[in-house]
Amino acid sequence: MNDPNKVRTRFAPSPTGYLHVGGIRTALFAFLVARQAGGAFVLRFEDTDKSREVVGSAEHLIASLNAIGIEYDEGPDIGGPYAPYIQSQRLDHYKQWAQKLIDAGRAYADPYTPEEVQQFREQAQTNKQPFLYRNHRPENPPAWDGSTPLRFKSEPKSYTYHDEVMGDTTTSPDVVDDFILIKSDGYPTYNFAHIVDDAEMQITHVIRGQEFISSMPNYLALYEALGLEHPIFAHMPHILNEQGNKKLGKRDGAKDVLDYIRDGYLPETMMSFIATLGWNDGTEQEVFTRDELIAKFSLDRVQRSGARFDEKRLLWMNGQFIRQLSLEDLENRVRNFWPNSAATADEDYKRQVLTLAQDRLKTLADLPVLTDYFFAEPTPDWSMIDNNKQLSKIDRSRHIELLQVATTVLESTDFTTEKLQETLNNLLETTGEKPGTLFSLIRFAITWAPFSPALPETMAVLGREKTLERLRVAITSD
Ligand code: GLU
Repeated sequence: MNDPNKVRTRFAPSPTGYLHVGGIRTALFAFLVARQAGGAFVLRFEDTDKSREVVGSAEHLIASLNAIGIEYDEGPDIGGPYAPYIQSQRLDHYKQWAQKLIDAGRAYADPYTPEEVQQFREQAQTNKQPFLYRNHRPENPPAWDGSTPLRFKSEPKSYTYHDEVMGDTTTSPDVVDDFILIKSDGYPTYNFAHIVDDAEMQITHVIRGQEFISSMPNYLALYEALGLEHPIFAHMPHILNEQGNKKLGKRDGAKDVLDYIRDGYLPETMMSFIATLGWNDGTEQEVFTRDELIAKFSLDRVQRSGARFDEKRLLWMNGQFIRQLSLEDLENRVRNFWPNSAATADEDYKRQVLTLAQDRLKTLADLPVLTDYFFAEPTPDWSMIDNNKQLSKIDRSRHIELLQVATTVLESTDFTTEKLQETLNNLLETTGEKPGTLFSLIRFAITWAPFSPALPETMAVLGREKTLERLRVAITSD
């Protein structure tokens, strides 16, 4: 059905919770490998551990991939040539493959109770030996009727395989064991199901987290027993916290990617940031567009050691992406981020405000703090002036005097950026003050905000009436 040379990758999450950056990175790398090769990227839900399933997480996973722009070509909600893409709907497939193994004498019914298996485990622990089920393999197992686990009958040996990220590895026969293929509840284990599905779905590259490396000897044994050629493997190193000393946890910012979008991070920032967690293209480039990633990504440039998650870099990168947006694009994206005070504001006025704010936005959610005073009258707060290093050096009567002089000259100024700039420059000369003093003072008096865009631009957008009124309010408010 498929071109045998076509690259096919998959992302195979279990619907057990939200998608954090580590999961998204795996998905993104698999997506990039497929897109680069003109292949297909498949989404598959691995829901065979019913006890761990979280209601709503399947929808949440899909929403997260959509939010970042990781599009899949086949998947649970869109179908495809190998549907269904949900493991719990593929039980008959696993049964068929299990039967092949039974027929070949490579699978058998586990006759022990869970308590008995636990005893073997404890016994091994007491003897300080690794637990291997195959040491207890029954001589004459009963026929498998589905009420007990079905186990793989291993033939331990050593394997050598190549991992696109981790390099070449030779495994030890000692760790190959008789693992469970199908549980007594009728569901397959991940260990079995993913191999069946990857084979049936013609997956060429298995890209997943490094926690699966230790099971590779068993997987290789199973591919062999099933007569399958194994796919290309790439195991991703962990993502570490900012200090680089432990695995990234929820407290270090491993939050839901949808939360980042809600907090005003752009999808393209998330894509670029996540791609560069442990990958670079060999140059100094730090920020990549989606097309650049598709063109440049390669698994062999993913570093083997853990990648540090640096939230400050994420913030910086978001500012870079925001700055590059066209005004029209930015306008569309900030629709839900305006302060309440802007609700009834004129669109053209909002556009002017946005033009000024664009360079200063680190996230879209910064918009209210940066722009509220353009829409609502700010309340004078002289503590801002008293806490300012330059302004605290002169006393209140001088503050007032300077604001009065400024008001007078501004009254006879055209409110264009150029003329305002000229007036302000002249004012520096006539007052003998430094820009850091005079301009900060005027800025506070008309915005009462901790930061604002350049003064002449701010005044021009606010307009003559509001600017002068605010100066007057400031003068009389102390
Ligand atoms: N269902 C596995 C998980 O969520 C997927 C691992 C894989 O990609 O094969 O960890």
